[in-house]
Amino acid sequence: MWRISRCCRSAEFVFNSNVKVAMDLDSDESDDSQIIDDDVVSSHSNYSSDGLNGFAADMDEIVESVQVSSNAKAFDINIAGRHEYLGNNLDAVSGFTFYEENSVQKIPVMKHQTVSFPGQKMPFNLIHQSLIAMVMSVMEGDKTFGLVAELDHYNESVKGCIGVTFQVMNCSPVTQGRCQLTGMCRQRFKIIEATKNNEHVLSATVRILSDKLIVPFYASMVSNSRDRTKCSSRRKLNASIRTPWPTFVYEQYSADKLVESIHAQLMELCHGREEQTKAPSDPLILSYWVAQNLPLIDQQRTFLLNLDCPVQRLRWELHFMAKCSRICCCTCGMEVSNTNSVFSMNTDGPQGAYVNPDGYMHDTLTVHSADNLMSRGLPTERFSWFPGYKWICVFCISCLAHIGWRFDSAGDCLPPCFWGLTRKALITMPGHDIDIESGSELRPII
Ligand SMILES: [Zn+2]
Repeated sequence: MWRISRCCRSAEFVFNSNVKVAMDLDSDESDDSQIIDDDVVSSHSNYSSDGLNGFAADMDEIVESVQVSSNAKAFDINIAGRHEYLGNNLDAVSGFTFYEENSVQKIPVMKHQTVSFPGQKMPFNLIHQSLIAMVMSVMEGDKTFGLVAELDHYNESVKGCIGVTFQVMNCSPVTQGRCQLTGMCRQRFKIIEATKNNEHVLSATVRILSDKLIVPFYASMVSNSRDRTKCSSRRKLNASIRTPWPTFVYEQYSADKLVESIHAQLMELCHGREEQTKAPSDPLILSYWVAQNLPLIDQQRTFLLNLDCPVQRLRWELHFMAKCSRICCCTCGMEVSNTNSVFSMNTDGPQGAYVNPDGYMHDTLTVHSADNLMSRGLPTERFSWFPGYKWICVFCISCLAHIGWRFDSAGDCLPPCFWGLTRKALITMPGHDIDIESGSELRPII
């Protein structure tokens, strides 16, 4: 979505964001100030203190201090998706499991930290033995397990909840009580029944869900021998004469038109740089891709996952993209960035999932500029999500909530710096030019 970075000196840069905040998978707390290594956050003479508990506040000064070699090259955005920070002992897993739509399956389901969408690639750094045992079990079968978001309203019962199947694509041996894996979310399912195996894993009976495309209004009016989805404009016009509503009404629900509109919106945000979007063209895949990459709160992601029609999903997303442009701290509302600053450091899009050494996964949105943030500690390349970049934690200057990380080139990568903002800390608000009343109406438009 995604506009060229002002930090970028090349037309081909990619983003990379790195996080190192460690969080306990068992804990509901997300107080990052408690989980940063002392050696990382200790005071440093290169950072000026504003008196706020040792935080460094002058981001411009810090950014200007980043030194980039004259031989610097654009970061290879293919690297970020490989999750090389997980180590080099990941073995490729062959095979692909696709369950028949509407079929009933019995699969283990992991309670997960976030709402995931089909097509989303994710890494896992498993440290809980119950999760490792579950993964070792599925690796002897379908190499597939389920994910369901562990949100507040799911605490009572997961019956009826929507989740996604997760296909393991790379997996490491269990070493020192840890197991790393990467893979992709595949199909939505609804939980019919579930029993709790342990704190993290359910044994669930699920129904595989299908997505329904709205059939174009002209489909029943053209020859069966033609591809109805590629009917010519003239034939659509002729067909529309025989319908009770004007053509433009039907086109608001046209998957093709919605794809065009989403692509146009992305191009506008990218300022015409097509290579920055790489958005899919298939309506269903695009609807999930946009849902995955927008900085949405969990309730909005849950709403989109529960929709069973990509046209409805695309309409809501288009409405959101047109209205919301300010990226703010979800704790206090302080504006920290905007959608024009979003760009991709990963081939999968501007918001990728990355995991820290303690197993906590962050949906991380990369932006080339940010405001009202302060950093703490020392930059480090340790466990960097973007090889060649140092990371440092950044916090809201108003409420001190952890917002994400700033990444500085270690010497020969472009862009010289960028920010990775953790989605859980963000809320996207209507732009200043949008009427608050209408902009806040982000109700479903279906
Ligand atoms: Zn704040």
